[in-house]
Amino acid sequence: MSRIVVKVGTTTLAYPGGRLNIRHVDELVKVLSDLKNAGHEIILVSSGAIGVGVGRLSLSGRPADMPGKQAAAAVGQCRLMDIYDTRFSEYDHVVGQILLTREDLDDPERRGNFENTMAKLLEWHVLPIINENDTVATAEIAVGDNDTLSAIVATCINADINILMSDIDGLYTADPHKDPDAKLISVVPELTEEIMALGGGSNSSQGTGGMATKLRAAQICTTHGIDMIICNGSHPSLLYDIMDGKAIGTRFIGKKENA
Ligand code: GLU
Repeated sequence: MSRIVVKVGTTTLAYPGGRLNIRHVDELVKVLSDLKNAGHEIILVSSGAIGVGVGRLSLSGRPADMPGKQAAAAVGQCRLMDIYDTRFSEYDHVVGQILLTREDLDDPERRGNFENTMAKLLEWHVLPIINENDTVATAEIAVGDNDTLSAIVATCINADINILMSDIDGLYTADPHKDPDAKLISVVPELTEEIMALGGGSNSSQGTGGMATKLRAAQICTTHGIDMIICNGSHPSLLYDIMDGKAIGTRFIGKKENA
């Protein structure tokens, strides 16, 4: 039995206009439900509040201003949870929503409350679904991206592994969108300066993450002794292969002396 934190990005959950990617969402829910049936503890960190809100409101694009983002998130988060609740219920799994800001995680008392709630939810076999509390998370109090949020969550609950499902297969030796010779790096035993330098800016117009935030998430996980994997969210069944110990995407090895 493993305690697995899975993060999915907006580009996996929704098409560019914000309409739901039904195939991805349905496959993801099915695989996570099955892994839960097999005895694993699953914690889902899901983006998509703003993206799904944009689709639900038929806006022409992701709002640039903070009130617009926050209002879109209010609509999208509600829709997102309805989608998850309905689909997970089909497999007899109960979900719970947790919305966090950086302030919650930085304050020892609030962080303790979060950890206690998570422990109880997992004891009750609930599948917690976590996102940033985007409707109130201004720049000053936001974690800012869900790669980092999922890494922090993984450390709070002593997860065995943090899996970031992205729109890319993993970490490459160069940007594969620009360099045809770029090679996938399957294992990163150490986050060297050379590896950290491979993080560029975000290249998605929907989500906020990019390789830089994923590498920072890897730093958080590995220094706490937790392995982290980046893999392609278009194929949720890859999660089975990961649990079978196959080499999928890029695996960052946690420093075991800190585990
Ligand atoms: N919390 C944001 C949302 O749900 C996503 C943040 C991210 O993509 O990293 O839209």
